[in-house]
Order: sequence, then structure tokens, then C-alpha cells
Amino acid sequence: MDLLKYQRKREFKKTPEPKGKIFKTKKYRFVVQKHHARHLHYDFRLEMEGVLKSWAVPKGPPEKPGIKRLAVQVEDHPVEYIDFEGQIPKGQYGAGTVKIWDKGTYKLISKSENRINFELFGKKLKGQYTLIRFRKPKYWLLIKKK
Ligand code: MN
Repeated sequence: MDLLKYQRKREFKKTPEPKGKIFKTKKYRFVVQKHHARHLHYDFRLEMEGVLKSWAVPKGPPEKPGIKRLAVQVEDHPVEYIDFEGQIPKGQYGAGTVKIWDKGTYKLISKSENRINFELFGKKLKGQYTLIRFRKPKYWLLIKKK
């Protein structure tokens, strides 16, 4: 929204200042990978800033409104990981089976340091969600809005 404010004040045909892109209306991709590692969990990933921002969600993303699920942020993954399914060999990091559980696009509604609002357009996951960081650096809640 701040960028929209910036753009409204300027006529970009007349000023050499950069217009910038508003991500608000653009759709990015997301994926949820079911990961049978030592502990079963779901990896929730949002395509953002050229990487996949990633969270491990032990109980899986909420499908019903009002439900909150713990989401532990993990390291960014490369965007190519969005299509990954397969077997991570024994002895390797995250050893076990990875299967795509849901996939689709999302619309970023707003984003700040500790809060991300977005709308998911998946097969299983649809509607507005919020990620709220409740403890730095990596503890978030994934909430499906009512
Ligand atoms: Mn994982």
C-alpha cells in the first residue's frame, strides 16, 4: 500500500523516478510438501523475493477458518524446489519422502516484519491466511481467516 501511495503522488511520464512494481495484484506461487522425515511435517513455501520462503508446519496448514497452526521458519529454498518430489536418501539432511500435498498461486495482501497476509488459490487451501511471528526469529502461527 505504501508503494501505491508513492505512485499516486507522481506522474511517471514526467519524472525520471522509478515507478516500481506493486506486488499487490500479482500472483505468485506456493507449495505445500508433505515430508515424511524423522517427524512427519508439512513444508509450506511461498515464492517471494526470488526464493521460496519456507516454514515447517508439524500439524499441516489449517483448512478450516479460525484454526492456528505452529509454523517454524526454515531456511529459504530455491524456487526450483517448488516442483520437488522424491526420496531424500538416508543420512542426508531431511532424509525421507517428499510429496506435493497442495500447490497453486497466492496473492500477497500485505507484508511486514512480523506479519504476512495473503490469499491462497490452491486445490486444498483456498482463502485468506495470515502468518504472524510470535517469537523471533523463527516461530510463527499460520492462521486461516474467518
Ligand atoms: Mn521438511
